[in-house]
Amino acid sequence: MEPGNRARVEAWLRYGDDLDLGPYYRDRVAPARAVGANAAAGFESSGPAHHAMAAAAGQGEAASSVRVSTPSATSPAAGAPARSSPAIAAASGPSLFEASDRIEGDTLGLIRETIGDCTRCKLHKGRTNIVFGVGSMKAQLVFVGEGPGRDEDIKGEPFVGRAGKLLTQMIEAMGLCREDVYICNVVKCRPPENRLPEKDEITTCSPFLFRQIDVIRPKVICCLGSCASQTLLQTTQGISRFRGEWFDFRGSKLIATYHPAYLLRNPSAKGEVWKDLQKVMAVLGLQQKRK
Ligand code: URA
Repeated sequence: MEPGNRARVEAWLRYGDDLDLGPYYRDRVAPARAVGANAAAGFESSGPAHHAMAAAAGQGEAASSVRVSTPSATSPAAGAPARSSPAIAAASGPSLFEASDRIEGDTLGLIRETIGDCTRCKLHKGRTNIVFGVGSMKAQLVFVGEGPGRDEDIKGEPFVGRAGKLLTQMIEAMGLCREDVYICNVVKCRPPENRLPEKDEITTCSPFLFRQIDVIRPKVICCLGSCASQTLLQTTQGISRFRGEWFDFRGSKLIATYHPAYLLRNPSAKGEVWKDLQKVMAVLGLQQKRK
């Protein structure tokens, strides 16, 4: 099966599992459940937020040499409007398959209720709070990060630590505030020692992210870093190979950029991120702030 379709089938089956609908066909076994389961300017020296961003301080985001497997991947010219991308232009609405993925009448509240006091994966053991997501349910722009860190785990809110402050500055540099957008993560519980979320954890938790996105139906999804972009695009390719390109994700336009935590370590990458955010602004019709 073509990898994109396979991923959709898997996600769809996971929804079914989550709703306790059981196996859909004879040779499929129900998965075992865990016990109890159920700036502008900030980046570019010319911008107004520059001074606020300048304090940022390095390791690169891992870049592998594998090609993006997502069939809708395109490489529009830098700065070109999203509509110039054939993949985006073709995404006028969800395909029949994608539409059937959506849960009729789903809400953010229902999703949170379904998550409950989750013990579906091992991350629950070390968490203080489930970090579901914050922002407007009508947001045109959704930011997706990796998973909560220490500060987020304590507060129960995504992106409130150092990387979060930088994300807030990025949002404000776009002429928006946190309340205008929706911010969430691939996994809702903090991985120990801030390690990368593992495959089984991502597989268990990402259906909730898909549902959040389906409910909000944003115009643009901005993936922050490798974990979010690889999860949504179903690729193992390194982010530096496809960041700044437009993709289709269930009827939304998706762009990947570097994670704010990466920018804290590599401030010189802010220019690239700002270019990506300017593409988002162009699609959303946002004006760049004057100095
Ligand atoms: N990094 C993330 O990916 N998410 C957060 O919520 C905080 C830091």
